[in-house]
Amino acid sequence: MLQYRTVNQEQPMTTPIRVDLSSDTVSRPTAAMREAMAAAEVGDEQLGEDPTTCQLQNRVAEMLGKEAAVFMPSGTMCNAAAIRVHCRPGDEVITDRSSHVVNFEVGGAAALSGVSVYPLDGDRGVFDVADVEQALRPAHMRHQPRSRLVSIEQTSNRGGGTIWPVARIRAICGLAHEHGLAVHMDGARLLNAVVASGVGAREYVAQVDSVWIDFSKGLGAPVGAVLAGSAAFIEDAWRAKQQLGGAMRQSGVLAACCLHALDHHVDRLAQDHDHARRFAEGLATVAGIEVAPVETNIVFFDVSGTGLTSVELVDRTLQDGVRIGMGGTATRLRAVTHLDVDRDGIERAVVAVREAVRSDPRA
Ligand SMILES: *Cc1c(COP(=O)(O)O)cnc(C)c1O
Repeated sequence: MLQYRTVNQEQPMTTPIRVDLSSDTVSRPTAAMREAMAAAEVGDEQLGEDPTTCQLQNRVAEMLGKEAAVFMPSGTMCNAAAIRVHCRPGDEVITDRSSHVVNFEVGGAAALSGVSVYPLDGDRGVFDVADVEQALRPAHMRHQPRSRLVSIEQTSNRGGGTIWPVARIRAICGLAHEHGLAVHMDGARLLNAVVASGVGAREYVAQVDSVWIDFSKGLGAPVGAVLAGSAAFIEDAWRAKQQLGGAMRQSGVLAACCLHALDHHVDRLAQDHDHARRFAEGLATVAGIEVAPVETNIVFFDVSGTGLTSVELVDRTLQDGVRIGMGGTATRLRAVTHLDVDRDGIERAVVAVREAVRSDPRA
């Protein structure tokens, strides 16, 4: 069993992690997925000769209703490549302040594409047409950056797994296109939105110019993301991928995991959503804890009413073999469900939090 140190790094942790809610990236490939990997037909991906990678690309393009798609090593590279293709240095991308592009890509938009960000304050990661409208730079203002791209995160990660309604996406695409901007969707958890809402993936992305889905989150693959768009956009995205060092060789072993995930791990996302809801309901019964609304597989909660800090709660639950993530403030936490957490794990996690809060932190 892997062991982890406590958050404050003061004492080594001896209890193994039994329930890991720190992220949906921690799931491990299943035995069936490893079999699919072993059986994969492969070739040289850089030459377009890996049949399994080609199959995955075609399948995702079809699923999203786009002309073409390209397999990438990560979602971060999908965002980097899309921004590079849509924008020129000095351009500006309009996106939510909480977004992955703004907070977790080491300033990649600026560093790799010379692009600045106009951050919006959306409602739990979801902004409005009016927000975009006021952010647009007038075309005649030559001293301002050129507004070039709107980026939407479906679902919003730091917003709490919130789902962008189709009508909102359509309206924003309408405004953006009217002003000559492109729209990009960071669809790391698009399929969570699809499963939770019953709205089809094609419907969500019909108007966006580029979109990608991540396979290493709730879908349970070890590596990989697929970026989709028009044939011309994907042609340029291939160049960006090569330039960023993301071109691969026998990537069919990875693409096989992703194909396996599409066959077996999409519908089951409903279980993760059910587990997240149950976890939230359990937390709501603990005095001093306030839980944000849950729409998919992400649960944010605040412990300020318990007298504990998030670091203290994380450390205490770790002692019970339950790992929860930090939520971005001194008293906020984030828990994410995925295919390696079952119903018992959720109950165990609720008990661990209850016990952590019950024992007086200052004693
Ligand atoms: C995880 C994540 C990414 C980055 O994906 P990687 O595959 O980890 O590089 C981008 N956007 C969102 C919303 C994410 O949750």
